[in-house]
Amino acid sequence: MARRARALAANFTLMRWMRLDAGAVLAESSGFRANPCPEENSLSKIAAVKAYPIVAKLKNVQWTAQESRAEVELLLVEVVTDDGIKGYGQVTSTPMPDIKKWVERFGEEVIGMDALARVAVWEKLLSLTSPRPNLGGLSRGARPQIMGAIGGIDMALWDIAGKKANLPIFRLLGAENKPVFTYATGGYYVKGTKITSCADELAGFVKNGFKAVKLKVGGATMAEEVERVKATRAAIGPDIKLKLDLNAAYDLPACYEFAKAVAPYDIFWLEEPLPPADHAAWAALREKELVPLAGGEHEPDEEGFVDLIDSDCVDYVQMDVVCQGGFASARRLFNLIARRELRFAFHAWGTDLEILAAAQLGVCWADSVVEWLEYPCYTDGGKPGMYAFPLSADILKDPLQIEKGDLIVPREPGFGIEVNEGAIEKYPWIPGPWSFFRIDSPAQTLAVVGDHSVPWEGTAQP
Ligand SMILES: [Mg+2]
Repeated sequence: MARRARALAANFTLMRWMRLDAGAVLAESSGFRANPCPEENSLSKIAAVKAYPIVAKLKNVQWTAQESRAEVELLLVEVVTDDGIKGYGQVTSTPMPDIKKWVERFGEEVIGMDALARVAVWEKLLSLTSPRPNLGGLSRGARPQIMGAIGGIDMALWDIAGKKANLPIFRLLGAENKPVFTYATGGYYVKGTKITSCADELAGFVKNGFKAVKLKVGGATMAEEVERVKATRAAIGPDIKLKLDLNAAYDLPACYEFAKAVAPYDIFWLEEPLPPADHAAWAALREKELVPLAGGEHEPDEEGFVDLIDSDCVDYVQMDVVCQGGFASARRLFNLIARRELRFAFHAWGTDLEILAAAQLGVCWADSVVEWLEYPCYTDGGKPGMYAFPLSADILKDPLQIEKGDLIVPREPGFGIEVNEGAIEKYPWIPGPWSFFRIDSPAQTLAVVGDHSVPWEGTAQP
């Protein structure tokens, strides 16, 4: 009961901040006092919203504890103003046909709106998700896809705002430029590799300058997982921060056992140790104080994040700007996280555009609040890089600048690096399985195709 009361109070506080935040942003975008708000006929108005699904096949199928991945799908969102400014956003979520449909449908709703009125656009789109008699409304069940679509448009409007003002986004938000601390993620399971190959892979990240790394765990037996963690700690040395991402591999008793077994290897956090919706189990695990916990990447909306925070589930809140509500949701959550004296870490498993967007936003908060930015890696000839798909870098015209694990935030307008529109033609979307998983009863391999799973008997066996 007390928890529910706290959650209600937090929701009320969040709604108040939403309004305060809206006022601040509107004042900022209108140039209050210094420059009168432009007349209606001189605004940059939203003229078009386009959605481009693209796909990149992986060289090798990769697994986490929960699922495999054969390809990477994403939606590039392009918003064009009536005075010719283009802004881009990204949505990384599934099923892709639904995401595309939501972006296009929302696009119709915002055509003609002031392109700088990001808050008004966001609130209009979210309000459509609250079904009311005689007012229509969208399916609540599609909330994760809807939040991704709203976030993609929101990102593109921030890009436009920066280009319109001839400033990078972090300057619009009042930040100074500083390097953003990143951590490198790897250790996916790949068929035909030895169980401890992760140790060499993560040691490669360290060799390339990263000072913190994250290892995927939970896909093998617990004894093998402890062996992987032990080998990785030995390979990276004692000074590198080591995080473990379980992808909800265990139930609560198994999680206790795993946390106790790996605690001697100086683990910085356990990420998504349990099923994402079971906040009570997370709180029970955290009470044991074995290893700090991180999570949030699967919260469907802001209410989910508020409950995660209020239920004392985590030490580090994670959120992904390309599938969980965009900049608007992130900004509100940062305030809440700061007040609860928690820490935030960006989740990212997509492209350089996603990393760049998170960096432009994250650099605007104190390190004590927004502490980490995830940089998904693979080892390719000793060079640092993203997953084994070239699209991740090809989506931008210039590479990201990373020095000793720190991302140098570019100073050009908008996101700071131009999106490479050629990626749209180079990586056309082709419907097909992007993931495989196994079930035990009956023993079967399934492929995820669009929005449903089908028995898989193809040649690309996981
Ligand atoms: Mg994760």
